[in-house]
Amino acid sequence: MIKQSGKMESFIDSDFLFRKLASGIPGILTTYWLSADGESHRYLFVSDQIQDILGLNPSELRENADAIFSTIHPDDRAGVYASIAESSAALTPWRFQARLRVKEGHFEWFEAHSKPERQADESTVWYGQIYNVQYYKNLERTFRENEAEAAFQANFQKLIARQSTEFINLGFGAIDDSIRDLLKAIGGFFDVDRAYLYAFSPDYRFMDNTHEWCSPGVSALIHSQHNVSIDGFEWWHEKISEMVNHNRVVFVEDLKQMKPGPERDMLEQQGICSMFCVPVRVNGVVSGFFGVDSIRQRSWREDQADLLIIVSGLLSGALERHRLESELLNQSISDPLTTLHNRRYLMPRLNEMLNRSSRYGERFTLAMFDLDRFKHINDSIGHLGGDFCLREFANLLLEQTRDADVVARFGGEEFVVAFSDVSQADVRRTVNRIIHSVRDHDFIFEGRSVPLTISAGIAAIGELGNIPSTPDPLIQLADRRLYSAKQAGRDCLVDASGVSRI
Ligand code: GH3
Ligand code: MG
Ligand code: MG
Repeated sequence: MIKQSGKMESFIDSDFLFRKLASGIPGILTTYWLSADGESHRYLFVSDQIQDILGLNPSELRENADAIFSTIHPDDRAGVYASIAESSAALTPWRFQARLRVKEGHFEWFEAHSKPERQADESTVWYGQIYNVQYYKNLERTFRENEAEAAFQANFQKLIARQSTEFINLGFGAIDDSIRDLLKAIGGFFDVDRAYLYAFSPDYRFMDNTHEWCSPGVSALIHSQHNVSIDGFEWWHEKISEMVNHNRVVFVEDLKQMKPGPERDMLEQQGICSMFCVPVRVNGVVSGFFGVDSIRQRSWREDQADLLIIVSGLLSGALERHRLESELLNQSISDPLTTLHNRRYLMPRLNEMLNRSSRYGERFTLAMFDLDRFKHINDSIGHLGGDFCLREFANLLLEQTRDADVVARFGGEEFVVAFSDVSQADVRRTVNRIIHSVRDHDFIFEGRSVPLTISAGIAAIGELGNIPSTPDPLIQLADRRLYSAKQAGRDCLVDASGVSRI
C-alpha cells in the first residue's frame, strides 16, 4: 500500500515502491561496490530475483559479491574482469556478456549494463542491471545455422551447375578429365578423403575403379582396383544387389560397427573409416557406382545421401551421353555388314600415317583387295549369299592381320589393309597368305559351296618419290596394281616386284 503523507512514511514508501518495481522487471537490478584497492566488493543492492535466477542469497551478496563471480563460466571470467577494470579506470559504462550458472545448474547467457560512479574514498559504485539473453543467443545461433545452411545449399547448387555446364560443353573424348574434375570438386566440397567411380562388369561379378580423386597425402587405390572379383564378398554382394535392384545407397558410418568379414578387413587395410556408395545408371541399368571415403571418423549431413544421389545423377547423364556419342561415332566409322571400319575411318588414319612418314620417316604399305567375279557370285547365289561371302571374307582378313594394321571395307567388295612398319617382303607374304586362305576357305551358303578367290594390289609409301599430301596417289597405285592382278588372271597379287602367286 502506498501512503502519501509524512517525511518518514514517504521514505518508506519510495523504498517499498523501488522494491516492488525491482521485483517486477525480468532482470536483476544491482548496485555493485568495488573498493579503491579492488580487494573487496559487495552489492549495496541486488534484487531478490537473484535468488530465483542464480540461486544466490541477496543478503550474502550484500556482504560479499564473490558468490556471483563464481557462477561465471570459466571461459568468460577473464573477459568480465577486464570489462570491470576498463570501466573503473575510464568511468565508462560497464557492459559485458557472459554465461552464468543458473539455479538449475546449467549455464545461460546474461548481459549486464551499469554506470560507474567514483566515490569520495576512491571506491567505485555501478548502478545497473543483469538480464538473461539466452533467448536472443538461441535466435542468433539458429539464424547463423540457417545462414550457413543456405550458403551451403547455394554453393552446392553452384557446384552442380558448374559441373553440369562442363558436362554439357564436353568435347568428345574429354569425359575422363571432366569426371576427374567432378570427383575433385565433390571431394573438396564434402571434405572427404577419396571420391571415385567404379564400373561393374555386365554380370556384376567384377568391378573396375575407372576414376579416382584423393585428398592430399591420401594414397590412391585405383591401381589395385582393376577387374576386382566380387566372389567371396557376401556382404558386398548383398549391397550390390540392393544398389542394382532397389537403387539403394550403401552407407558405412563407422567401420568399427560393420560386421566382421573380408569386406571389413579390406576396408580396414585401405584405411577407410566411413563411406558412401551411390549407384550410377546408364541406359536404364546400374552400370557402376560413385562413392566417397573418409579415413577419419566424422559426422555426415542428414541429407548426405540425397546430395550424393544428385551427383550420381549428373555422372549418369554424362556417361549416358558419352555412350550415345560413342555409339554414334562407332556407327559412323564402321561398316554395318562386315563390322569392319569404313572409308570414313580409314582416310584420317591414312593421313596420320602420311604425317608420321614425313615427320619421322615411318613407312607403311597399302594392300587393296577385290573379290573376283563377284557379280557372278551374286548372280548365282543371290545378293544375300554375296553378303554372306563379304562377311566371311572380312573375318578372314581380321584373322590374318595384326591389331596394329588398319583393316577397312573400302567400297562394295573392295577392302584395304594398311600395314605399318612392315617390310615389303612381309606384306607380300601376309597378302599371299590371305589370298591362299580365301581360296582354301569353304564358303557354304544355304548348303551350297561357293568357290571364291580374291586379287590384291600392293603399294608402299617408299615407292612414291616424295611423300604426297593426301593418300590418293598411294591408293591409285594400289588400285592400278589390283587391276594388273585381275589382268594377270586373278587369285594373285601385284606389288612393285610384279605378279606373285602361291
Ligand atoms: P572382278 O573380278 O573384275 O572384280 O569382277 P566382279 O564381278 O567382282 O566385278 P566388280 O568388282 O566390278 O563387281 C562388283 C560387284 O559387287 C557389283 C556389286 O553387285 C557387288 N556388290 C557390291 N557391294 C555389294 C554388297 O554389299 N553385297 C553384295 N551381295 N554385292 C555387292
Ligand atoms: Mg570384284
Ligand atoms: Mg570391285
